[in-house]
Amino acid sequence: MIERTLVLVKPDGVARGLIGEIISRFEQRGLKIIGLKIIKSPESLIKKHYDFNDIAKRKGEFVWKKLIKGLTNQVVVAMVVEGIEAIPFVRKICGDTEPRAAPPGTIRGDFAHHGYAYADAKNIPVNNLVHASSGAKDAAREIKIWFKEDELITYKRADEAWHYGDNI
Ligand code: GDP
Ligand code: MG
Repeated sequence: MIERTLVLVKPDGVARGLIGEIISRFEQRGLKIIGLKIIKSPESLIKKHYDFNDIAKRKGEFVWKKLIKGLTNQVVVAMVVEGIEAIPFVRKICGDTEPRAAPPGTIRGDFAHHGYAYADAKNIPVNNLVHASSGAKDAAREIKIWFKEDELITYKRADEAWHYGDNI
């Protein structure tokens, strides 16, 4: 039940000074940051992260190409977030892929209003500030791409017993 998931603050989030705000969204819900780095991501890393066979099949080759271009050699913040059912929960905190559809209260719904129609017409990936792993298989695969095992840190938060119900 305690899961680990990969989150990226994408270049638009870094450029807009939203790194702290985005990390806070996870911390304030009691989720634990167990890995964290800022990196200028080389093409090889981005190509591993956004697998052609996945994105091109679901969204078309065009979106994949634009994603690779948009993230290569750009500054991103990568983190591993741990908590109870963290994989779907972190997706919920991020909000829908299309910021236009993401409800207020989510990261994408509070800080962006980009939409597919606009982004497609401009030939760019929709700017949605964050990436979060979509399922258990992806989370395991993506964490390995961005972090070495010894870069993930085990520790207890002072409020952890309350989040995990170990206080009783
Ligand atoms: P995510 O898991 O919510 O990030 O969404 P996906 O894995 O489906 O897509 C990866 C990224 O591609 C998204 O975060 C967007 O930046 C971009 N993207 C997805 N779908 C579209 C689309 O239909 N049009 C455009 N322009 N960009 C898209
Ligand atoms: Mg995805």
